[in-house]
Amino acid sequence: MPSIALYDTTLRDGAQREGVHLTVEDKLRIALRLDTLGVHYIEGGFPASNPRDSVFFEQAARLELKSATLVAFGMTARKQTLPSKDVGLQALAACSAPVVSLAGKAWGIQVERVLETTPAENLRMIFDSIAFLCAAGKRLFFDAEHYFDAYQADSSYALKVLEAAIDAGAEAVVLCDTNGGALPHQVAAITRETLEALKARNSASAQVTVGIHCHNDSGCAVANTLEAVRVGATQVQGTINGYGERAGNADLLIILANLELKLGQELVGAERLRLLTPTANFVAETFTIAPDPYHPYSGSNAFAHKGGIHVSAALRSKGSYEHVSPEQVGNFSHIVVSELAGKAALEAKARELGIALPKEPKKLQELLDTVKERESQGYSYEVADASLALLLKAESGEPASCFKLESFRVLAEKREDGRVMSEATIKVLVDGERHVATGEGNGPVNALDAALRLAIGRFYPQVANLELTDYKVRVLDESGGTDAVTRTVIETTDGTTSWGTVGVSENIIEASWDALVDSITYGLLKTT
Ligand SMILES: [Zn+2]
Repeated sequence: MPSIALYDTTLRDGAQREGVHLTVEDKLRIALRLDTLGVHYIEGGFPASNPRDSVFFEQAARLELKSATLVAFGMTARKQTLPSKDVGLQALAACSAPVVSLAGKAWGIQVERVLETTPAENLRMIFDSIAFLCAAGKRLFFDAEHYFDAYQADSSYALKVLEAAIDAGAEAVVLCDTNGGALPHQVAAITRETLEALKARNSASAQVTVGIHCHNDSGCAVANTLEAVRVGATQVQGTINGYGERAGNADLLIILANLELKLGQELVGAERLRLLTPTANFVAETFTIAPDPYHPYSGSNAFAHKGGIHVSAALRSKGSYEHVSPEQVGNFSHIVVSELAGKAALEAKARELGIALPKEPKKLQELLDTVKERESQGYSYEVADASLALLLKAESGEPASCFKLESFRVLAEKREDGRVMSEATIKVLVDGERHVATGEGNGPVNALDAALRLAIGRFYPQVANLELTDYKVRVLDESGGTDAVTRTVIETTDGTTSWGTVGVSENIIEASWDALVDSITYGLLKTT
């Protein structure tokens, strides 16, 4: 067992970020990526608070997770309510997650003003709620909200709160900097004193896992977490890319990299640490947030060498320009991308997709150049494996298309009743035969999808099994100097697997068409 456990709350705290809307499918895909990365606990959501999280836990029960344990989040019973009668606790007891993280108040001011109850009643609520869930067969983590403020206001009450949780059966107590205002020296001192007090109390308290959960309001969430670990905390909580409400949460990937590469802790191991950058980018794309190029470890510029340093000098002495080797976290430095890392990465990706790339170095280099050229135009293959697979197949001479577009036309009409409808007409060639079809939809993409299905449906009846499950649009303004381009990403399923495709154009409808054609073509090629 690793000595420090990684606890991810991207799907709950991270999803609190303003403007973010995750579907159940999004959450399931992120959970799988976190599991592949080697995260130990994945907090999936708050089953009592919203129906989408309940559905997530129903479906997540069928995920075959290799390293991670699913955790459900909830609150202590409402005052004057028996735990067995509390709907929130009932939902937690019934949910598929084996672990529950239960949040409770540790700060007197909150007990009085928010819960409107007495300190003694709060301790009883914590004890009874945890005992109820333990009796229901759950493993329990207790989140002590506002712990650092609470400890500074009244350390003996803050400790009593932890003790109530431990006495009721919690196997971990998590010190939460809920307001995110603490500074590293405060977190270090309070965490150390807390650990000492628990060790001195009894054997259950001495053995309890102490976790740390920081928000970034003072800009110190990662530093605070590392300080807590340095004095003995053994569970670190955070979110991918630090997503979260207000200024965000502690960035779990930065914490992971620092613990593995700087502090000699093994949490996921060297091999899986290389998934750090792809995981950061995948989650960014799924959140529909542009990855920050200047983000530590995972940013595309995190290891970019400043102009002026001669490339060969930088290559000769890479270590002196880089705090860690970018390959360790799955990133690369700009100077080597075109010669070394890019080719290796592409070959690895092609192997993963089951595509044999040309052997001749010249052909391979051309293919790499094509991929890079497309990436510079705005194509992002992080969540669009299917588009990359089609591109690699086409460039390697394998079949990569099912029909040829002659033309399409899309009309949008606002009607008297206020409805806006789109109509698309497309002309395609299938096996040399020309087909024309018209489709309607509530938007241009819907209408194009409907028309395309009609046009090719006679040749490819299996197109009826393909369903578009998600459609995301982002305007890329980072193209620098040129007109803004639009990137669309479409997610498609055939009921058993799903795949992502990408389209890029200055015109949103053309970008959507690109992604749509890849989505349908990939699905059809899978079955033929
Ligand atoms: Zn939080």
